[in-house]
Amino acid sequence: MPDLYAVIGNPIAHSKSPTIHTLFAQQTHQHMQYYALLSPLDNFRGTVSEFLGQNGKGLNVTVPFKLEAYQLATQLTERASIAQAVNTLRFDNDAIFGDNTDGVGLVKDIEINLGIPITHQRILLIGAGGAAQGVILPLLQKQPALLAIANRTSDKAHALQQKFSVYGDVVAGDIMNFSDQDFHIVINATSASLQGELPELPGKIFTHTILAYDMMYGREPTPFLHLAKYSGAQQQADGIGMLVEQAAESFFLWRNVRPQTQPVIALLKSHTPSPLTP
Ligand code: NDP
Repeated sequence: MPDLYAVIGNPIAHSKSPTIHTLFAQQTHQHMQYYALLSPLDNFRGTVSEFLGQNGKGLNVTVPFKLEAYQLATQLTERASIAQAVNTLRFDNDAIFGDNTDGVGLVKDIEINLGIPITHQRILLIGAGGAAQGVILPLLQKQPALLAIANRTSDKAHALQQKFSVYGDVVAGDIMNFSDQDFHIVINATSASLQGELPELPGKIFTHTILAYDMMYGREPTPFLHLAKYSGAQQQADGIGMLVEQAAESFFLWRNVRPQTQPVIALLKSHTPSPLTP
């Protein structure tokens, strides 16, 4: 029997994770099966128990269960513990090991795939939800000159500032607080693009931007990436590379083998049919 893995979420039908992990398994000759697992919104723990009953070895966790996965884990990495969100579970006998690979996925995509160093850059992170929370520590570990967190509900941005200031230079507020400042890297970690919307954003923020990055991905550039392009950002990228890189980190945690991400990113970019969840 192949070892069983899955991505658990709600909704989940459009997830690209089964494609990504199946490609990784083929590439690295791993005897495993990976599928999409829909959990009722009110029964995450029950769905995980059933998966364990089938001798499941590990799960990726996506919206809206990352906090519940964090609560379920009995052992956590530092980055998952600080983010208070888990996107990867590994079942080790009686222990449930939880990690958050979103941040390292983003950092690898920006620095390795896109070739843009984070160190000493001024970064604007828009959004303060689960995705933003998961990437702050890995971004700060790269020692940017500044990390500004802007959110529609500015209280949430301030709460993240308080939590993460101990790890680096963090400021927070409403996006308009930053409208006269320059940022080298602007990251959209809001879910606005999922609805085809644009977070409130002054176009002049992109005047000196090297990279505008939208964690969302899809067939067409998002409204955020459109605005960035026409407002002067030198380069624009969507979140497909982050998705594949975070998956590769999960794969490594489970199988102790590092798959090659470039061919998978290239394949997905040539086939991306619609906006999807991780
Ligand atoms: P959450 O629901 O946890 O957070 C949503 C965030 O978006 C909040 O900060 C919210 O602000 C903000 N927001 C929503 N709509 C708007 C709007 N119209 N204008 C301004 N701000 C808005 O979502 P996640 O953090 O889990 O996900 C965010 C995005 O990241 C999604 O698009 C998701 O697909 C993507 N993602 C991509 C990954 C990848 O690998 N590429 C991995 C993980 C996530 P407020 O607090 O005011 O409500």
